[in-house]
Amino acid sequence: EVRVRFAPSPTGVLHIGGVRTALYNYLFAKKHGGKFLLRIEDTDQSRFVAGAEQYIKDSLAWCGIIPDEGPDQGGEYGPYKQSDRKTLYKQYVDQLLDEGKAYYAFDTPEELDQMREELKAAKANSLNYNSITRNNMKNSLTLSEEEVKAKLDAGEPYVIRIKVPSKEDVRLKDMVRGWVNVHTSTMDDKVLMKSDGMPTYHLANVVDDHLMKITHVIRGEEWLPSAPLHVLLYQYLGWEDEIPEFAHLPLLLKPDGNGKLSKRDAAKHGFPIFPLAWTGEGEDAELKGFKEEGYLAEAFVNFLAFLGWNPGTEEEIFSLKELIDRFTIERITKSGAKFDIQKAIWYNQQYIRKMPIEDLGTALLEQAHAKEIDCSETDAFRIADQLRERIDFIPQLLERGKFFFEAPTDYDDKVVRKKWKETAQVVLPAFADHLETAGDLDAEGVQAAFETVLEAHEAKAGMVMQILRVAVTGEAGGPDLMKIMEVLGTKEVASRIKKACE
Ligand code: GLU
Repeated sequence: EVRVRFAPSPTGVLHIGGVRTALYNYLFAKKHGGKFLLRIEDTDQSRFVAGAEQYIKDSLAWCGIIPDEGPDQGGEYGPYKQSDRKTLYKQYVDQLLDEGKAYYAFDTPEELDQMREELKAAKANSLNYNSITRNNMKNSLTLSEEEVKAKLDAGEPYVIRIKVPSKEDVRLKDMVRGWVNVHTSTMDDKVLMKSDGMPTYHLANVVDDHLMKITHVIRGEEWLPSAPLHVLLYQYLGWEDEIPEFAHLPLLLKPDGNGKLSKRDAAKHGFPIFPLAWTGEGEDAELKGFKEEGYLAEAFVNFLAFLGWNPGTEEEIFSLKELIDRFTIERITKSGAKFDIQKAIWYNQQYIRKMPIEDLGTALLEQAHAKEIDCSETDAFRIADQLRERIDFIPQLLERGKFFFEAPTDYDDKVVRKKWKETAQVVLPAFADHLETAGDLDAEGVQAAFETVLEAHEAKAGMVMQILRVAVTGEAGGPDLMKIMEVLGTKEVASRIKKACE
């Protein structure tokens, strides 16, 4: 059975890249009839941000990504929050210590700083604690057994580091990147357990993936450099036959393709970068959320799926169900995915066009009522339907359709000045007179009445049509004018025309 996990750390607002990772995991699990897990990786207490875990859950729920197992769902392999699993990791560290695959390190922060300085001066690479330098440091590989015991007994602070072999190759096959080959001399002796007894990300992540029977690790490219260490850990812990498959997802790039997409790009260009607005503390509260900006969840998810994946055809519109059906890891791109907000807007337009009229109409009704504008349900539905091709976002409905609710007070002067010809001056008042006595008319009725008046004055529609539109709506463009007039009603249209002709 396929079992995948999304394993965010609640250290801040979940970025769009994180949501994409969750989405790809979810699609892959569902495609294979497997399970999608949510695991909260909160072992780094110093980076804990209140509200971040809830934000992750809310964001996934908004996208329709519901975990099969997780902190809220429970499951056979719980708990699903690493801080609730604290006691579980120690035995694995002990095992590694016993087998000489990990060691105590007693170096103080000052000593580590000093080593970094020395390495810098010697222009060594940025590694700071590995098979070369560890011999000069204060740890259980260089100290005698008695010294180590004395330090432990005295309660001296320590960390536990993995002992990376000095001259070996670690190989792994990434489903997106292909073979990755790393020589252990370039690897760091990463800390597995910190002085506070908490496991680090690397240890907890590997232990949990194993205990939770994760079959595929699908995550951002920034974790690719950690993958060899994880493979080594699997081998060290005796789980080499159960190493999950890896798939590292391409980076999300700035709109111009130059470098990683960042919060600063979002602030600079004014586009959203988070699924939801952040209501917690900090400067992130100033950044926009896709939801609050008026993006439909389905459109957002569709857009997101295409940031680093495509079906290999020209098709672009896929519901979550259809995405599940079509998704394959083979079609994930290797190169970074450019973030293009225009594409997100395009997706939103497409989904607004497909939206059930009940939803669209109700949205308009709510907007109108919020502004204390009178509007019947029937009218709201008719208006919303006329506007659906003319908006990018649902919250624009009322604004784009404001002429439905109030007579124009000023008129698009380009049209008025250039085209306000004699014919229009005569035909329009005549049309208004006609409408005043015509009773209720639907769009075809209005059209017929208009043609009758045109004929009587031997005028062509083209000569007056745009003037009529400006007179009725104040604007030079918009939805089908006859339909607008149907909604407004003959009396209102007549009065607007007369006012415009004054
Ligand atoms: N906790 C890591 C993160 O915040 C998880 C990385 C992984 O999926 O292994 O992204």
